[in-house]
Amino acid sequence: MNIGILALQGDYIEHVEIARKALQAKNISGEVVTVKDKSSLKSIDAIIIPGGESTVIGRLLEKTNMIEDLRETIAGGLPTLGTCAGAILMAKKVRDKVVGETRQPILGVMSIGVLRNAFGRQRESFEMDLDIRGYGRVRAAFIRAPAIVELWGRAEELSGFDYSEIGRVTAVAVEGSMIASIFHPEITGETLLHEILIDMVKR
Ligand code: GLN
Repeated sequence: MNIGILALQGDYIEHVEIARKALQAKNISGEVVTVKDKSSLKSIDAIIIPGGESTVIGRLLEKTNMIEDLRETIAGGLPTLGTCAGAILMAKKVRDKVVGETRQPILGVMSIGVLRNAFGRQRESFEMDLDIRGYGRVRAAFIRAPAIVELWGRAEELSGFDYSEIGRVTAVAVEGSMIASIFHPEITGETLLHEILIDMVKR
């Protein structure tokens, strides 16, 4: 099994490590490869879009001419995990808490609406334990995190919490073979989301 990590900007090196650990944990032989152009999309069985700066990753996806191909490949069923900025890029609807409509380039493949920088300045980064429905508990690290505030169609919440100013926040959403998480599993060393992604390849 080949797991690709989108490696244009952000936390991709950490995801290489965690994806390797997740393959080991599941006892599956596989390679973890970095994806920097569209030619590598053909040889992977799953992709991870890391956290970082969604505007920068979006612009680089355009610049490298891979935004269309990546969008079509994911829409065509390539199992995909997007964390933080990656979740923003996967969402069909994106707003920023401060600036409102962002008009940034996105993939727009998942039926979720996200609010960028939802937790404000005082809480630029924080951690909490979260239950992932049907899978168990993880330690979740949030860094200038977005909130998933809307889900429709086939998108479902796997984890969430109530947050004073925002109301219901979905932390992990799934839709078909796509998973979006607003936290960074690679920072606390959690392999669970990567393992769920690997299960999506096998099925
Ligand atoms: N605030 C970043 C954005 O809007 C996301 C932060 C992150 O990925 N840690 O793209």
